[in-house]
Amino acid sequence: MRKDGTRFWSSVVVTPLYDEDGKLSGFSKVTRDITDRKKLLDQVSAHAAELELRIAEREATNAELEAFSYSVSHDLRAPLRAIEGFANALFEDYGDKLGQEGSDFLTEIQNAAKRMSKLVQDLLNYSRLGRVELAFAPVNVLELVRKTCTELGPDCRYIRCDIDPGLAVIAHAPTLGQALTNLINNALKFRRPDVDPEVRVTARPWHNNTISISVTDNGIGIAPEHIERIFKVFERLHNRDSYPGTGIGLAIVRRAITRMGGTVNVDSQLGEGSTFWIELPAAKEVVVGSSNDIAR
Ligand code: ADP
Repeated sequence: MRKDGTRFWSSVVVTPLYDEDGKLSGFSKVTRDITDRKKLLDQVSAHAAELELRIAEREATNAELEAFSYSVSHDLRAPLRAIEGFANALFEDYGDKLGQEGSDFLTEIQNAAKRMSKLVQDLLNYSRLGRVELAFAPVNVLELVRKTCTELGPDCRYIRCDIDPGLAVIAHAPTLGQALTNLINNALKFRRPDVDPEVRVTARPWHNNTISISVTDNGIGIAPEHIERIFKVFERLHNRDSYPGTGIGLAIVRRAITRMGGTVNVDSQLGEGSTFWIELPAAKEVVVGSSNDIAR
């Protein structure tokens, strides 16, 4: 309490005092007024509490949005299948009566329905990635990259792979496989006109006991101002006619890798090519610089 009777927050230090013979002779007391500090601390805790409330609200809204987009995408599939089915039936049963223009219109309907199916499927995959539990285990990088390349069919011939067979990451293999498929597909797709694609997949030990897996292409590249944008859902830098796609592939890659505790980055030169790389926790202790490149 102050002399004027008002109360205040204080910090009190009491120190024992001894005389020359070492006998306790009394105490000294230093009282410091910490009212301002206490006020500040109270304000900080109030802000922290408010922030936590906002985070909780945002998480709830995000979960709601996720659930909403999942059920919308899911429910869109049935009417879409009906459109595709009836358009096909119309073509088969009445194709000869439609005339050229009618047939062209019908082909447009079929193509649009196909595009929408792909979009809905990609959205469902994206949404599912935010909801499912992923079980992690050591994944051999070379084996997974080889499997991914084989599934790409004839375009596999454009891919070179330099990966130490001993490298393994902690990941969910199907999810990592999906991310690699998306990156390699893009590397093959965004090729320069009249230039054969050259895609190189490498993996090497990286800092903080991680493995860096990179996909490099000699394609059209990306302007620096678009680098962050392309990882967002539906963000595309080209129209459908020059390069087909839904604009969800890289959003899936980022979500997949983040969910596995990793990061994804890109380095690109417009007109010269791009390197996308993923960093994931190594399955075994790794030493940076210990990788021997092994050509496939
Ligand atoms: P999509 O491939 O369906 O268009 P993505 O999400 O995979 O969607 O990619 C988003 C955009 O990023 C692409 O439309 C393209 O403009 C750009 N992009 C992605 N990968 C590459 C690449 N390897 N080279 C050049 N541009 C790319």
